[in-house]
Amino acid sequence: SNYWSNVPMGPPDAILGVAEAFRKDTSPKKVNLGVGAYRDDNNKPYVLPSVRQAEENIFKKCLNHEYAPIGGDPVYCDLIAKLGLGENSLAIKEKRNATVQSISGTGALRLGFEFIGKHYNHAREIWMPSPTWGNHPQICNTLGITHKKYRYYDPNTLKFNLKGCCEDICSMPPGAIILLHACAHNPTGIDPKPEEWQILSEIIKEKRLLPFFDMAYQGFATGSVDNDAFAVRLFEKHGHQIILAQSFAKNMGLYGERVGGLTFVCADQDTAAKMMSQLKIMIRTLYSNPSINGSRIVTEILSSPELKAQWLKDVKEMADRIILMRKKLREGIEKRGSKHKWDHITSQIGMFCYTGLKPEQVLRMTKEFHIYLTKDGRISVAGICSSNVEHVAEAMHKVTA
Ligand code: PLP
Repeated sequence: SNYWSNVPMGPPDAILGVAEAFRKDTSPKKVNLGVGAYRDDNNKPYVLPSVRQAEENIFKKCLNHEYAPIGGDPVYCDLIAKLGLGENSLAIKEKRNATVQSISGTGALRLGFEFIGKHYNHAREIWMPSPTWGNHPQICNTLGITHKKYRYYDPNTLKFNLKGCCEDICSMPPGAIILLHACAHNPTGIDPKPEEWQILSEIIKEKRLLPFFDMAYQGFATGSVDNDAFAVRLFEKHGHQIILAQSFAKNMGLYGERVGGLTFVCADQDTAAKMMSQLKIMIRTLYSNPSINGSRIVTEILSSPELKAQWLKDVKEMADRIILMRKKLREGIEKRGSKHKWDHITSQIGMFCYTGLKPEQVLRMTKEFHIYLTKDGRISVAGICSSNVEHVAEAMHKVTA
């Protein structure tokens, strides 16, 4: 008999499904702009020089493969909390942060949301920007946590909708959780300006909401890890008890290592210690303890001034190449005589460009030009390089002509 005959076929993942279709395409012209992974100018996966050097250093140390502590290596946790919250973070100085290693950014979100589901005694609903990364609502659905949308992107102006966002924040119940993309908003590539973050921080405080920052792209937006942590650090300075999910997938190119972190900034040291104890209990039953290779690489880089300097250069180089490709793509479309405005390609930041292409235009991009992207018209600019930018520009011009 078939014990699993009740199990229906599930739909493919919206983003990873695009990668699958790309793999099956045999055209030499094919371009994958679906998945958010950095490629160098030869369209090849990129291992950062700082990461290579860290790997060599670690190899020479002949380390063992014992288990990590449940929350991860405390040295790693201190380093990444400082990278996110900043060297001058009051919370870190006062030991009010509970920080654990997570299974990359997704694992940090999952652990953070699950913690909210189990221990949060206030308005247990998570408000997310519209649009947001598809996995945010999915994780909530899996956990049975209520999620709602607040206005973020204005499709008419192609800009951040500050007014709509503030109105929606004012309608949230006190204590609700507001999910914020710390930088390089996915999928729109549109972030609030510093003065807009200031306003958001003030009204979020006034409404007594709990800000949960998802920081998957620190360094990728502007090329500077400090600039990109502006909002996180501003909120902490304003006294918010923020939650912070970090990932080293993109900014260290450690995608498959699955290394990240989850931090709760707490009211006091005593609360942080209690939170830490409960995080450990939760992790113990999920995966017992985290993997050690990725966190060793991150630790090696962040604890050595020379390697850290090299890494900051590496991040800047990746961000700059993306910025250059945005410029070339926009020029490529404009020089073909497009009637549309394309300034959003260069004004948006981070890995993604929200092109404004309609689903039928996206379909034509794939069918006629072998260019793969998600249905919402989002492209990963990291997948564009000198040898394919003209092909992508030509396609975008033709399908919108
Ligand atoms: N959050 C956002 C907004 C993302 O775009 C991503 C990756 O695409 C993640 C979190 C987490 O990625 P990972 O689990 O690979 O660190």
